[in-house]
Order: sequence, then structure tokens, then C-alpha cells
Amino acid sequence: MEVKDMEINKKCEKCSNTKLKFSTRQMRSGDEGQMTFFHCPVCSHTFTEN
Ligand SMILES: [Zn+2]
Repeated sequence: MEVKDMEINKKCEKCSNTKLKFSTRQMRSGDEGQMTFFHCPVCSHTFTEN
């Protein structure tokens, strides 16, 4: 699956970094719709939001 990483001004939950990478993925089934993946390049924390 192709993922495009972009930068966003959002604070990491684990450290004070405020520039996270994020990418979106379209879910093909169910009611999920679009999921957003956030990744902190400083502490490698990764989390998702719907
Ligand atoms: Zn972090």
C-alpha cells in the first residue's frame, strides 16, 4: 500500500517534539473510513487516529 509521509505541527504524546510525520490510509472495508498514522521522528512513538 502506498503511503505518503507529510509533516504536521502536532505535539508528540511521549516527548516535547512538535513536528510529527503523518500519513493517511483509506480503509477499504467497514466503517473505519480514513485512518491517520502519526510518527514522531525523535522518540519513534507511533499512534493512529480515526
Ligand atoms: Zn516523540
